[in-house]
Amino acid sequence: MLDPLKVKKDFPIFKRKIEGKEIIYLDNAATTQKPYVVIDAIKNYYENFNSNVHRGIYKLSEESTDLYEKSRKNISEFIGAPDPRGLVFVRNTTEALNLVASSIGQGLKKDDEVLLTMMEHHSNIVPWQFLKAKGVKIKFADIKDDGTLDVDDYVSKITPMTKVASVTHVSNVLGAINDVKELGKIVHEKDITFIVDGAQSVPHMPVDVKDIDCDFFAFSGHKMVGPMGIGGLYGKPDLLEKLPPYMGGGDMIKSVTTEESTWNEIPYKFEAGTQNVADAVGLSAAADYLRKLGMKDIRKHETELMLYAFQEERYVEGLKSFGPRSLHLRAGVYSFNCGEVPAFDIEKELSGERIKISKGSMHPHDIASEMDKEGIAVRSGHHCAMPLMARLDVQATARASFYIYNTKEDIDKFFIELNNSITRFAH
Ligand code: PLP
Repeated sequence: MLDPLKVKKDFPIFKRKIEGKEIIYLDNAATTQKPYVVIDAIKNYYENFNSNVHRGIYKLSEESTDLYEKSRKNISEFIGAPDPRGLVFVRNTTEALNLVASSIGQGLKKDDEVLLTMMEHHSNIVPWQFLKAKGVKIKFADIKDDGTLDVDDYVSKITPMTKVASVTHVSNVLGAINDVKELGKIVHEKDITFIVDGAQSVPHMPVDVKDIDCDFFAFSGHKMVGPMGIGGLYGKPDLLEKLPPYMGGGDMIKSVTTEESTWNEIPYKFEAGTQNVADAVGLSAAADYLRKLGMKDIRKHETELMLYAFQEERYVEGLKSFGPRSLHLRAGVYSFNCGEVPAFDIEKELSGERIKISKGSMHPHDIASEMDKEGIAVRSGHHCAMPLMARLDVQATARASFYIYNTKEDIDKFFIELNNSITRFAH
């Protein structure tokens, strides 16, 4: 059993007070707080091992390389990747998806199709849209009204021209968990490359990329108590070997002449330039920390918090929350609006015009700023999912997202303050 109060003590930031109040951090889908073990691992690296990897034939460089490669192996194991050569270190999920879209994109032709879903984060939309310049077409599978993926629509959008399917494992707005194993089977039958955006799954539940049988899998360290600036792209080694590199420079080459270059082995072919070794070491410490808590227990804890939120939300008049209600289909992301929030309007969004909210309703930004006065951190806006906002017919939502250090008392305070804010706004 995970004890969130005990977990909280591992995180120095919770010693801080905001406006004299304890921090209630409910923006974990954006980024998570860092425990001492991660901060110490980074500090220890810089104090004792700092040097460039794969280059020097001296002690520090050898030790640094050893730490970097051990981190790769540990993080590979954490996501169930059988071969560490399949894990490319990148900055974050965004970079992982840009890498894979750009490299796969080199092999795509006019009228080839990429299949996405309406619940994707911009980082799993925009890199694919870059390929439109080549005449590649992008299709979006719809969601159902209950906030789950419409699998029938997904299947109906597959054509003989579909070459790539990329899908989020967990929606950062709806909290919906997609059955990526099943989706993978469907697309693999048609010889389609299958990519999973694991930004919101790896930190919160057991993930096994071998079991999912995806071709590529992207994730971010900072969302799993690791440092910012490090993440991973897992790829099946035989596919990574065939893929052209994304960035050119030092370390990714075997040989360079004035005429041409040849590429290093995987994963180094995709790791041009000096790497973020300290944060890879920090991420490895984060993986150890989460493993010790137990990924199953983390998932169970968040499910309990979500159930509690579902029970308590009824005391807030006019609240509408989004996403599936079945807990087995739902991660700890709770997006909601209070009262009527007008429909999505791209012109207004672009002009920055503040949308008008009817009396008795509250804009998500007002919710977030009122909560902030009580030390409660929640998110508001489009959550980098504008197509999903349009599909939900709202301009924006507020969002609370839970993690290992959140308690039922945090959720109580959150709903109490939400009610207080609504009352203040109504007068
Ligand atoms: N994909 C999903 C589902 C996300 O929630 C996020 C971030 O919120 C990203 C991708 C992008 O992650 P990053 O900003 O770490 O690259």
